[in-house]
Amino acid sequence: MIPEVLCLDIGGLPRGWIPAEEAVLYYARNLVGWDLGKPVHVFRGGICARTGQRSEIAPAAIVAIRGEVHVEHWAREPLLSRATLFVRDRHVCGYCGEQFKDQDLTKDHVVPQSRGGANTWTNVVAACRACNQKKDDRTPEEAHMPLLFVPYTPNRYEHLILLNRRILADQMAYLLAHVPRHSRLHA
Ligand SMILES: [Zn+2]
Repeated sequence: MIPEVLCLDIGGLPRGWIPAEEAVLYYARNLVGWDLGKPVHVFRGGICARTGQRSEIAPAAIVAIRGEVHVEHWAREPLLSRATLFVRDRHVCGYCGEQFKDQDLTKDHVVPQSRGGANTWTNVVAACRACNQKKDDRTPEEAHMPLLFVPYTPNRYEHLILLNRRILADQMAYLLAHVPRHSRLHA
């Protein structure tokens, strides 16, 4: 699989991940203002009748697009899902601090939903099955299970890291530079 391209607006603000094929169209329409990083792939086109040369476009890992960028599936608010939550918390249980695989983790509501706790980034942590069961329908204080880290809402840069499981080094460096120090992704 060809890695996805990190798409920015002309000011460098990330807009989303796009397939490399879509980046090729931006290059072909001369809409790429600047780019960064190694090419993700080399696409070869037809042979030009006039020059006899084969056309070639090699989109970089990061491309900044001139004008309005329409990236599909771009959520304005970081999407809270089990997958993105587990990546935010680096697959570490918020109560025992051990690392687990996806299937052994649960989305724990710090203040239980039955007690009015919201389903928001700041009220959820990854928790292993054992801890989740032990905590039950209680707050961490009631269960005497203090949280090991404070849940937070990822910013736009961090959110893009959470969305893509196959990030190239150039893309990771660009995004991480804008992720706040408190982020667990720096750990
Ligand atoms: Zn645990």
